Amino acid sequence: MAGEPQSDCLFCKIAQGEVPATIVRETETTVAFRDINPQAPTHVLVIPRLHHPDAASLAAAAPGVAADVLREAGEVAAQEKIQDGGYRIVFNTGTGAGQTVFHAHAHVLGGRGLNWPPG
Ligand code: AMP
Ligand code: ZN
Repeated sequence: MAGEPQSDCLFCKIAQGEVPATIVRETETTVAFRDINPQAPTHVLVIPRLHHPDAASLAAAAPGVAADVLREAGEVAAQEKIQDGGYRIVFNTGTGAGQTVFHAHAHVLGGRGLNWPPG
């Protein structure tokens, strides 16, 4: 069922503490942890504890939690001191856009120059 933990989902397992991660922030509804394959000096993923396959599905089903993810992305940027240099919040959606884990997550990237448009 949408929102319920999925036994085959890596990020559900991280949210439940069943798979280790370098957690930088946690709230009742979200977990933020370092990406295992960082693409910038700061690369943190913010996930909802609820399982939804992508950001739009999360926002449709649980808009308050989607807002929590965005707020936490900003808190990560502040904690990591990357706001002054600029940072990017990315939600890859669909395999064609590079999504590999189908549990909604925000990438928070910063600490280096970020080209626009992204590749
Ligand atoms: P995406 O490709 O947008 O679905 O993002 C998935 C991200 O999860 C990638 O940047 C991966 O490097 C990252 N990732 C995969 N496994 C782990 C893990 N065990 N811990 C932390 N990050 C992970
Ligand atoms: Zn999940």
